[in-house]
Amino acid sequence: MKRLLLLAVLLTGCQTLVDKPAEVPFRDCYVEITDPQAHAFVREALTLLTEKYAGPRQPVETVHLRTARRNGLGRAYRIAENFSKTEVIGPGEVVIYIAVPPGDNEFYPMLGHECGHLLDPTIEGDWEMEGFCMIFSEEICERTGHSWAAWQRRYPRRSSDPYAKAYWKAKEAERHRGTEDK
Ligand SMILES: [Zn+2]
Repeated sequence: MKRLLLLAVLLTGCQTLVDKPAEVPFRDCYVEITDPQAHAFVREALTLLTEKYAGPRQPVETVHLRTARRNGLGRAYRIAENFSKTEVIGPGEVVIYIAVPPGDNEFYPMLGHECGHLLDPTIEGDWEMEGFCMIFSEEICERTGHSWAAWQRRYPRRSSDPYAKAYWKAKEAERHRGTEDK
């Protein structure tokens, strides 16, 4: 139960990072994700963004992946953990932080969501974009054979969670577009 409560607090989506020593890059303070499957998933997501959604709107050349858990260096600083975020660090260079490590059943839904932000990482705090990232996550997980069941349970139809609302609104909009196309 304690674990469930903790997860409920931790897994609520993109959050803002707290202060850090300016000369130390965030990405150096967190555990690197080396899992080749995770990197292949990101490449698939970029392909889908390109082929179906005419993105990314700014070229994305390098995507660094981190679990949002502090590494040896990071533990020296007062910095946040367990968040998910997509951060542009230079031209064509992005860091994606995921709240949970690969192997967790929410890892790929979370990574799929953050990959959705690669469409245009400059757009922040926009619920339409969050909705897009939710349906994009579901789509890319389906395509790559990763279960989205954990998020189906987390974001049910009548949930008051803003991510659930954004998800269902985007799904509805997509359905309407599908009807118009016919
Ligand atoms: Zn998001």
